[in-house]
Amino acid sequence: MSTKWYPFIFKNQCTGCMACVEFCENNVLEGLDSKAHVKSKDNCIEGCKDCQAYCMVKAIYFSDELEEMMKDGIIKCSCGEHN
Ligand code: SF4
Ligand code: SF4
Repeated sequence: MSTKWYPFIFKNQCTGCMACVEFCENNVLEGLDSKAHVKSKDNCIEGCKDCQAYCMVKAIYFSDELEEMMKDGIIKCSCGEHN
């Protein structure tokens, strides 16, 4: 069984450029209060990381990366909201 796959957006790093929102053709992301948000987790395609490549400030992460970052002590929380 696989973990549900979708991007985590670190809100304090997001500049609100909306490149990821515009890039994703699967309607996963939306802009709200000048930040990107995940609005439709179920639309995200497992294994896809395409939107991450468009984020110039590295505000987008995926579950596999968050697990590593938590293991290495780089982040304490994997919710994507507080880092
Ligand atoms: S990982 Fe792919 S499908 Fe999911 S939000 Fe990013 S671009 Fe869209
Ligand atoms: S590309 Fe990065 S900085 Fe731009 S809206 Fe998306 S998460 Fe925020």
